[in-house]
Amino acid sequence: MSRVAVVGAGTMGNGVAHVFAEHGWDTVLIDVAPGLLERALATIRANFERQVKKGTVTAERRDAALARIRVSSGLDAVKDVELVVEAATEQAETKFKIFRELDRLAPPAALLASNTSSISITTLAAQTKRPGQVIGMHFMNPVPVMQLVEVVRGMETADETVVKVVEVVEALHKIPVVVNDSPGFVSNRVLMPMINEAVYCVMEGVAAPDAVDQIMKLGMNHPVGPLALADLIGLDVCLHILDILHHDFGDPKYRPAPLLRKMVAAGRLGRKTGRGFYVYRD
Ligand code: NAD
Repeated sequence: MSRVAVVGAGTMGNGVAHVFAEHGWDTVLIDVAPGLLERALATIRANFERQVKKGTVTAERRDAALARIRVSSGLDAVKDVELVVEAATEQAETKFKIFRELDRLAPPAALLASNTSSISITTLAAQTKRPGQVIGMHFMNPVPVMQLVEVVRGMETADETVVKVVEVVEALHKIPVVVNDSPGFVSNRVLMPMINEAVYCVMEGVAAPDAVDQIMKLGMNHPVGPLALADLIGLDVCLHILDILHHDFGDPKYRPAPLLRKMVAAGRLGRKTGRGFYVYRD
């Protein structure tokens, strides 16, 4: 395989396009929001620039990668690809519609992967007539840096699809870990309750955000504290995932902290709005 389409050019989509292009794939990046594609390309260029400065990528490799990326505002750009990685807004109806369209527009043999953090791969697959070719490819943020890709096998995902996607992940020089479809998969099912508990600690006045984060960094050897990580992920994204875990398992242990809900209502979404548990001036 050597041709990929990435649907959604936000935080994750531009990172996914970056790594595919860097590893030799012809990459088309698709988004519907006006202006988003130019911004995504600028971000990709800036991220490559950083890698060149660090010496992890040569200028030739950067130029070749950038030349492999084209952009499109229509889903029909998937018509000649072998793999689609959907990284659009985390909203079930949006993704259902995209998967129905992808099934209609992508070549019959193409694999359809989703980067969703919390929506059922089995349900996404059921929107298509090729459920055996639908799979989760859960990249981590920031994509060019993080090694893991959680590969999620839906109820109908064919073994052959899993094998091919594992090979793709390895070809991107990342490490695949295969899990079965279940709310939050493994990553968010374990991570989000920890973040939520950290928010409860702040809400109940047990400790300030930097104290909570310091304890987890120095005491548990986490490279980033849970609240700084929540700011990076986006507090709205965290709330959404917790709501899904809470709803799908029906277990009160996933109940989102009221403080988290309040911060999202106030627009304190973390880094992307300049304020979450911390203030960001850049
Ligand atoms: P984002 O909001 O930054 O980007 C989503 C993009 O999708 C937007 O640019 C939007 O215009 C576009 N979009 C919406 N509808 C579309 C459509 N019909 N066709 C094409 N593009 C469309 O979101 P993000 O943080 O990049 O997340 C994308 C996906 O990755 C989500 O499923 C999310 O759960 C998952 N994810 C996010 C993170 C993270 O840390 N942000 C980590 C892992 C996985």
